[in-house]
Order: sequence, then structure tokens, then C-alpha cells
Amino acid sequence: MVKKLVNPEKSTQFEKSGVKIGLEIHVQITALNTKLFCGCSSDYRGKEPNSLVCPVCLGLPGSLPVTNRRAVDSAVMVARALNSKISHRTIFYRKNYFYVDMTKNFQITQYDKAGGIPLSIGGWVDFEANGTIKRVRIIRLQMEEDPARLSYHGTIDSSPYTLVDYNRAGIALLEIVTEPDMTSADEARLFLQKLRSIIEHLGVSNGDLQGSMRCDANISLQGGKRVEIKNISSFREVKRALQYEIIRQKQLIRRGSTVKQETRHWDADRRLTISLRTKETESDYRYFPEPDLVPVEISENWIKEIEFKMPELPDARKTRLVKEFDIPEYDAGVLTSSKALADFFEECCCLYPDAKKISNWIMTDLARNLKDLGIEISESKIKPKYLTDMLKLIDEGEISGKIAKKILSKIVRDGEPPQKIIQKENLIKIGDKTQIQKIIDKVFEEFPKAVQDAKTDPNAINYLVGQVMQETRGKADPEITNKLIRKTLEKHKNT
Ligand SMILES: [Zn+2]
Repeated sequence: MVKKLVNPEKSTQFEKSGVKIGLEIHVQITALNTKLFCGCSSDYRGKEPNSLVCPVCLGLPGSLPVTNRRAVDSAVMVARALNSKISHRTIFYRKNYFYVDMTKNFQITQYDKAGGIPLSIGGWVDFEANGTIKRVRIIRLQMEEDPARLSYHGTIDSSPYTLVDYNRAGIALLEIVTEPDMTSADEARLFLQKLRSIIEHLGVSNGDLQGSMRCDANISLQGGKRVEIKNISSFREVKRALQYEIIRQKQLIRRGSTVKQETRHWDADRRLTISLRTKETESDYRYFPEPDLVPVEISENWIKEIEFKMPELPDARKTRLVKEFDIPEYDAGVLTSSKALADFFEECCCLYPDAKKISNWIMTDLARNLKDLGIEISESKIKPKYLTDMLKLIDEGEISGKIAKKILSKIVRDGEPPQKIIQKENLIKIGDKTQIQKIIDKVFEEFPKAVQDAKTDPNAINYLVGQVMQETRGKADPEITNKLIRKTLEKHKNT
């Protein structure tokens, strides 16, 4: 049971590890059909580069942006789910910089200083870490447009050219900034897992789409200078990038050097961070209010309307799963850590009566197979019916548990129904006594020493059972095999 809530401000974890990690998360609102300030399609993946653009997202002179109302809906929903205080009046700012990923030479974003008002302020996310409930505080949540996607030939520091695809420019992003409340790479991973589950339950973003959830991290050791890591293109990469950076900074400190305040780029292929530039200060961006956009007024009624439409969140779902399916709290926590996993579990429960058995198979064998393939359940071709059909086949005595494990790994990989795999691989359990007896006789002949031992040592019987299983590639019914071996041994004793 997990009960204690750690107050991040009084955390002793920091003193122990000396590591402080804050995250800046960029979530694409993939539920939208269009970009944040224009009518261009937001479905840019796999499309011809620079084909989904218009004067607004290219920033041509005279074009005027208009805020997408549904993007504000999504942002308000996420802010509510993160316990963040929604601003009734929010404005957009220009962040000025000169770089190829923004043709306007500024990005339309929000700002929390100099009179700027982001969409929401404050909030928190609670999640489980090492048996306690850990809280990470949210500083703010804001809306902004995505810059263009840059593509390098090879690596960023050696590429002879850079390709630019403006299809991504102007896509609606939510930026979520946390306090530096995380004290290890693992904690950061768990926090992001929870955040992703919340956002997916809200239907705001699909984390499976490449680049839909990205992350920058700032990290400091023992109160030293903050280093920012950019370009962590998926939540999966975060742990690796942070681990690398912690080791790099520790080594610097050990050698007596100081850690410079800088921005570093995460190179996922080479798995290291590279120094890009010394960190700009905020004044370099010359933030000022965007004169082409009116402020967004978010009335109490609008918020209420959105609250009314809000779907069930992971914590509420966890409580419901425990109540409805009578599964342990731990199981419900694992299942709701991903929306796809919880959906899969609930669909299985409609098809098969034993929820605990389903959850066991999902948390052990299914999870292991997914991990081996390096994929998530939504990327696997397994369907709930395949798992429940397999469980029914075990119950009916058609296959053994051992064979079922084999079948499951094939289902996860190839997405074929269990019946088809059984047929193809001839995996049906051998229940025919004469057939098993023949194999037992053969094993007895091959292992006379084991037979001798088995007459006095029950452990040696298991060895003989194991040999029969190996001969039949696990297909012999273990119960029948066990009985027949004991009978055969009796006969041997008497002769
Ligand atoms: Zn456009």
C-alpha cells in the first residue's frame, strides 16, 4: 500500500542525491484537425514536406493569425487535470529569435513575466515512486506554436546541410513547465509516464505518434549551474539522456572543474549530449505582446462546460478498477499507467470472467514480450480476444500453461489468433495415454539412473517428467504424465 505523500519543498531526497531535475514538456494537441492559428491540416506525418502550409504559418507579410478555439478547450482540460489555476484572460506573446525553423523570426507563445499571462499557473501531478506518492509541482501551462521540423544529414554537429519541413510549423503545442522537484532519472520517467497517461485519458494527444510528446530537461548537481538538455524527442529517451548528463556532471565535479550553464543537445543515436551554445538569457528573446491576436477570455461557464465533458482520469480509473473487478490496488496502478493498457484490460474483462487472471497475464508475460520487442501494447497486433481465447483454451485443457506462454509471444509478435498458431505449429496438448506412455517408456530406457533414483527420491520424478515434456516440446498433459510416470515406477519397483 502506498500512502505517504512527499512534500517536494521539504524533500530529503535532494540532499541524498544532490540531483535536481525540472522538465519542460511539449505536447502536440493531436486531437485537432488544424494548426493553432490557421486552417492548415495538422496531419503532417508522412506527408510531402512543405505541402501543408499557408501564408499564416509561413508568416508572410499581411497574414493574420486566428486562435483555434478547440486548442483552448484542450489546454483548459489539461490544466484542470493538472490542478492548475486557469487564467480568465490569457494573452499571446512574441518570442523573437532568428532561426530557420520559424520564417516569421518569432514564435507565438505565452509568457509569465512583463505583464504576460499564461493559460494557467501552478498545479501538481502525484505519482508512485519507490512505494511512496511523490508530488511534482507545475509552474505553468501555456499554448504555443510548434516550429518547423529540421532534419540533418547524419548528426547535428557534422551535417553539411539542414532540411526544413514547415508542415509542422504552427501545430498547436501545450508547454508544461515543472519545478525542479525530481531527484533522479527514474523519477522523471515515472512522472512523464503519469503525465502521458493523464493526457491520453483526456484524448488530447496520442503519445504513440512520433514527436507528439517531447521534452527538454534542466538539471543541476549539488546546487551547481543548470544545464538544459534539448531535443529529447520521446519520453522513452528521457531517462537515458538524464542518466548520461548526471554522470557527465559528476565526472566534471570530481575532476575539480565547474559545470557551465549551457544548452546541450541530446543525440539519441550516439546516446550523448553535445554542447550547442551558452544559454541565452530571456532578454535575448525580447518578448512582447502579439499585436495580431486578441486576448483569449475564458469565462467560468466555459471552464464548467469543459469540466462537464472531462473523461475519467487515471487515478479515478484505478479506484474504479479495484472496485469493479476486485483486483489489487497494485495491479490497477500498473494497468492505468497507460491508457492503452487499461483499455486492453477492460476489453478482456468483457470477454472472460476472471479479471485477476487477465491482469496477471498482462503484467507478467504480455509485459515481458512487449519489452523484449521494445514496443508498447498499442503498437502490438495483439487483440483482447486473442488473450481471452488463449485463457479459455487453457481452462478447457486444450493447451498447457507452458504452451500458452509460447503462443502468447507469437500473438504479440505476429498478431495471429491462438487457434491459428496452435494449428500451424501443431501445439495441441497430448492427452492420449497410450501416446504419452510410449514416450515415458522411451525416457525410462534412456535414463536408467534417474529411474533408479526416482524409486526413492520424489525430486527425481520431476526430472523424468521434465524429460517427457522435452520430448513432446511441452505438449504432454502434465497431470496425466505425472500419474503415468508414478504408475510405471511402481511396475519397475515390482520387477
Ligand atoms: Zn497554415
